[in-house]
Amino acid sequence: MNRHVVIVGGGLAGLSAAFFLRRARPELRLTVLEKAPLAGGKIGSSTHGGYTVDWAANGFLPVPETLDLARALGLAGELQEASPVAAKRFLYREGGLRALPSSPPELLTTPLLLPSQKLRAALEPLLARRADGEESVYAFVARRFGRGVAEAFAGPFVLGITAGDAGALSLDALFPRLRALEREHGSVLLGLLRAQRRAKSAAGTPERLTSFRGGGMSRLTERLRQQLGDCVRTGAEVTALRRTATGYEVAWGGERLAADALILAAPAFVAAELLQSVCAEASSLLRSIPYADVTVFGLGYHRVDVPNPLDGFGFLVPRGEGVRVLGVLYSSSIFPDQAPAGRVLLRVIAGGSLDPDFGGLSEAAQLEAVRRDLRVTLGVVAEPEWVERVPWPKGIPQYTLGHQERVRRARAALGRFPGLLLAGNAYDGVGVNDTVRSARDAAQALAETL
Ligand SMILES: Cc1cc2nc3c(=O)[nH]c(=O)nc-3n(C[C@H](O)[C@H](O)[C@H](O)COP(=O)(O)OP(=O)(O)OC[C@H]3O[C@@H](n4cnc5c(N)ncnc54)[C@H](O)[C@@H]3O)c2cc1C
Repeated sequence: MNRHVVIVGGGLAGLSAAFFLRRARPELRLTVLEKAPLAGGKIGSSTHGGYTVDWAANGFLPVPETLDLARALGLAGELQEASPVAAKRFLYREGGLRALPSSPPELLTTPLLLPSQKLRAALEPLLARRADGEESVYAFVARRFGRGVAEAFAGPFVLGITAGDAGALSLDALFPRLRALEREHGSVLLGLLRAQRRAKSAAGTPERLTSFRGGGMSRLTERLRQQLGDCVRTGAEVTALRRTATGYEVAWGGERLAADALILAAPAFVAAELLQSVCAEASSLLRSIPYADVTVFGLGYHRVDVPNPLDGFGFLVPRGEGVRVLGVLYSSSIFPDQAPAGRVLLRVIAGGSLDPDFGGLSEAAQLEAVRRDLRVTLGVVAEPEWVERVPWPKGIPQYTLGHQERVRRARAALGRFPGLLLAGNAYDGVGVNDTVRSARDAAQALAETL
């Protein structure tokens, strides 16, 4: 009898893990159990009248793992890079949109810093003290570049990626590359400059955000669903997990399924519930990974109704500027096929760990807050011709200080349970590429041991 692998959670992690496992070990029996009526989790998009709005991630940097997945799914011909216009990013500061430095040398010319702050940033290789142990993103940037740079950039940048607080989130867990640059080059600035020079001479141009033509990021999960076929069972919210003499058993809605191996690819708080009676230690460690609520809005406008050139990727908003949303993406400037001719699509992200009350507002109040902020920042007074709202309660895991140690201990505790693995964006990186990597690693581990 072929061995049976059950994957709980059919988001990008669960679906990719199933795909990688099937590729490596086609003889294994696979079942993906997904709570929602449609598998794919946060990777999806809505389309309407020529608009395409991504529900969460709008792309990924073209790393080999995700490109390999896309190509293996037959999506090579649909890959599209962000328009060169999107290289420019903005910050909303003191009542206006200011261009963000796009390379380390631009730190020295940006109007976003005072001359003394620029000088301190330039002296990073000489002045920054060494530190032992884990630091928050804010503490790391302040130590290396000075408080001015940390205030100006660390907060909004972290909000833009995780909807979280730069003072609470771990640099080591979120941006291990920055720690590695410090270690290897003695300076983040010098390390970044060298890496940039190497990347330029190797590829000619820096890597650009990548997505898919004709449907945005949903093409990835759509194709995964197609390829996996009926091994994906939807409407299956797993509520119990137990160990058996030969492996594991999961239960949902009156059904039960035996598994020789199990990948938990649902969010960490779900994995924590399921593990409670199997491994109390891992369960309590995973339960302590907090999540932030976020809401995504797609707003479609007639081009003439937006009195801004939208010549960039979009803008981030530091706290304390009188604007509530976290950031606005110029989606149809990034990927022009995401709005019909003569129209533009803006994607607004609101909520996050510093604004936990946003999700509790009525839909009308949320939209009113978003439209007010678009009026203030971009001068948009017209009604949008189309609005899509995608709430993500507990949407983004927050890698607070101690995260890596918690994950290491949880995995060590689970090491006593053969064939029981974790995957998803709660552990080793919050983005699409990290998720694909986590799925590949879990699949590889099972492929080698089952
Ligand atoms: C607003 C937003 C913007 C983002 N932007 C970017 C970006 O620009 N770039 C980037 O790289 N990343 C971005 N991300 C992150 C990216 O979307 C995630 O890394 C990725 O989608 C995580 O996939 P996952 O499979 O780990 O989790 P999920 O997509 O959350 O999948 C988990 C699945 O488990 C299912 N599930 C839950 N409980 C159960 C249960 N009991 N039984 C069965 N199934 C269950 C859920 O329904 C879900 O389908 C963004 C995320 C958000 C929320």
